[in-house]
Amino acid sequence: MRPAGDVLFWPLTSDGGYTTKSAYGFIRQRRIRTEASSSSGQQPHARFWKTLWVVDSLPRCREVAWRVAKKIVPVRRALRVRGMQVEEECPFCGMHPETIVHVLLCPVVARWWFASPMGVRFRSSDIPAYFLQQIFDQQDDHLTGLCVTFLYVIWDLRNAMIYQQKVPEFTGIMAQFSSLLSIAEEGALVRPPVENGLLARNSWTRPGEECIKINFDASWVHSAPTGLGFIARNNLAQVMAAAVAFPIDATSPIIAKALAFRWSLSLAKDLGFRTVCLETDCLQLFDTWMKAKGGDSYLFSVISDCRDLVSSFLNFSLSFVRRTGNSVADHLAKNSSKFHNSVWIEEVPPELESLIHADVIASMAT
Ligand SMILES: [Zn+2]
Repeated sequence: MRPAGDVLFWPLTSDGGYTTKSAYGFIRQRRIRTEASSSSGQQPHARFWKTLWVVDSLPRCREVAWRVAKKIVPVRRALRVRGMQVEEECPFCGMHPETIVHVLLCPVVARWWFASPMGVRFRSSDIPAYFLQQIFDQQDDHLTGLCVTFLYVIWDLRNAMIYQQKVPEFTGIMAQFSSLLSIAEEGALVRPPVENGLLARNSWTRPGEECIKINFDASWVHSAPTGLGFIARNNLAQVMAAAVAFPIDATSPIIAKALAFRWSLSLAKDLGFRTVCLETDCLQLFDTWMKAKGGDSYLFSVISDCRDLVSSFLNFSLSFVRRTGNSVADHLAKNSSKFHNSVWIEEVPPELESLIHADVIASMAT
């Protein structure tokens, strides 16, 4: 018997003949299916990421929720995968490896969620972002704010337990929870106007207790070397360190700012700061950092170095501030050619004293 030759046929019509109508129907069905599967839990939808940044809660709480959703939380399992010699067990229950999923699903933690005013009962699922999305999807702003704040409390407790051997108990948890909520409420009353979904501040403000605020900047002039500036202050507005680097090779303003960011993180690490909040006046850098998209450009490789460096801090945040709130770092960067590579510990060059003093005054008013 002679084998039959190959025949081309169109599978979407009964007679095997191609029609535009059948092809269009096929593409449409496929799109609907893809959209349905992407909103059913694999990836949070775009609206989720947008609402996350305007939830009624403190920026540090939103930051933790964002990190959980992005799966970039330095849980013990993740640290071990990176080769760090740490224990693997969850500090709360001591029974399971501490993964991001477990941070939410740990039986001890689940009891707290259920006993909280939100009465949240998590069901098993693998995707932390999906938990958050389910809460966001209820479109109850008050509830979302509460959950984002509570998530922060859990993460903070976990850190206090590991690093300060503090044993958590439920009344303490609720006390911390309600105090964070009232700070957020007070803040909401005097909230500055929203710009691109960001609460941009005009002036320098003091960081929270135990946190070191780092302002950094880069000077960029076409075909001239770039200079970097760094200033670290504590919650009493005292200078912990200042630094400049010059000359630096940068091909564009955003690269210059990204290099300043990486340099600042590695300085902060070398100086032994454990809880840091960094501020940039470069919205593009802030957006690039937050969107967390991968890429193979030089910019993304610098940003990816930054992500590695961030894991060495106990707590970290990056926020956007208007240039007027970043004037010391701006001055250091612009005048870096005078100092080349210098680090000052607990002091600043005399020419900066008036700018530092102006920030102290501004921080009293906020
Ligand atoms: Zn556990």
